[in-house]
Amino acid sequence: MIGGQVTLSAYTTLGLGGPVDRFIQATSEDELIDAVRAADQAGDSVLVLGGGSNLVVADAGFRGTVIHVGTRGLVVSERGGANDSGRHGSRTVAVTVAAGETWDHLVEWTVSEKLSGVECLAGIPGLAGATPIQNVGAYGQEVAETILAVRTFDRLSGKVVTLSPAQCEFGYRASMLKRAAAGEATGRYVVLDVTFGLQRPSGSGPALSTPIWYPELVKTLGVAQNDRVPLDLAREAVLELRRGKGMLLDPADPDTRSAGSFFTNPVLTAEQFADVQRKAAERYGAQFLVPHLQDETGGDARKISAAWLIEQAGFAKGYGHPARVSTKHALALTNPGGADTAALLALASQIRDTVRDIFGIELVNEPVLVGGSL
Ligand SMILES: Cc1cc2nc3c(=O)[nH]c(=O)nc-3n(C[C@H](O)[C@H](O)[C@H](O)COP(=O)(O)OP(=O)(O)OC[C@H]3O[C@@H](n4cnc5c(N)ncnc54)[C@H](O)[C@@H]3O)c2cc1C
Repeated sequence: MIGGQVTLSAYTTLGLGGPVDRFIQATSEDELIDAVRAADQAGDSVLVLGGGSNLVVADAGFRGTVIHVGTRGLVVSERGGANDSGRHGSRTVAVTVAAGETWDHLVEWTVSEKLSGVECLAGIPGLAGATPIQNVGAYGQEVAETILAVRTFDRLSGKVVTLSPAQCEFGYRASMLKRAAAGEATGRYVVLDVTFGLQRPSGSGPALSTPIWYPELVKTLGVAQNDRVPLDLAREAVLELRRGKGMLLDPADPDTRSAGSFFTNPVLTAEQFADVQRKAAERYGAQFLVPHLQDETGGDARKISAAWLIEQAGFAKGYGHPARVSTKHALALTNPGGADTAALLALASQIRDTVRDIFGIELVNEPVLVGGSL
């Protein structure tokens, strides 16, 4: 707080962001809806704030109302009707979680309850309500695979609306919910709760993960591709991998003072990929091959590693001061202490421009920028 004013640096994982005009803590769904409705009626800008782990807020702060989601609750309903045999000899359990529940706690709980489907998303910071916004994903899973419904407050109609996965139009770190923000801090739909369809083994069978296909996780677990492993093993392996990359929040580790990956991995057409390959060969020699990531984009599309592009463009791990590239992962831009948002955005712009000059690829920021731009 500054002079009684709340500053967003206390609410973002980057530890950055200036003061806000109004700050409301909403601990019930009614409070959340009422606060959003009142701000909208007053013509105020609105920022619905979760865990602040995907936000880069300007040093000048936010002119408007910040509504911090503090709703709680979990409802479990066994499905298992005639038409629902589930997957892999299991049955589907619907878990509805309030937007304000901590995501990682939910994952831990699902593993303890022998429910599979989100175990590889362990350690992602933030709240459950934000997970559909950018279709969070990691290590071969993304929430789009398990979401059955997203219940929202529609700021346009003023009604509570339940969206199906098809209506959410999930894509790679994208959704209709994120697009509907159209440059605003928060979009048309305020997420109230999310229902996940998770798998519980039938009978006394062991609780196994979904098939493990993400190469790094396959290697860490020492399994064959698409093997399934005990749920807790999958979760622990993911947490270990994340810790090694500074992608697990840890107050003692300055590399985790970030917003996660700052840029999404570019998805290129075959033609664009060939162009990058040509530019790389000109620069590094004919034998040089641009690595591409295995993913499920299908067709000719190639996803390439933004971290690789960043390092090739001369931004090694640890580059920069006072904002710096994480010493553990080139994709995370950090505030190790002493940086401000202007410095972080300047570093991000420098990286984006250099990658564009060398490879002709426009890196796109993953976090939501509030009051600033690249
Ligand atoms: C160390 C680290 C690692 C990360 N790793 C990953 C990863 O592996 N995969 C991944 O996908 N992401 C990752 N992230 C990014 C981030 O954790 C996720 O995007 C997360 O879902 C953001 O949740 P949040 O509650 O912190 O959202 P916030 O940062 O508070 O908000 C982000 C956006 O969502 C909106 N929003 C939040 N809640 C609601 C709601 N209830 N209704 C409507 N809009 C809402 C906000 O208005 C804002 O526009 C990482 C971040 C960090 C810091």
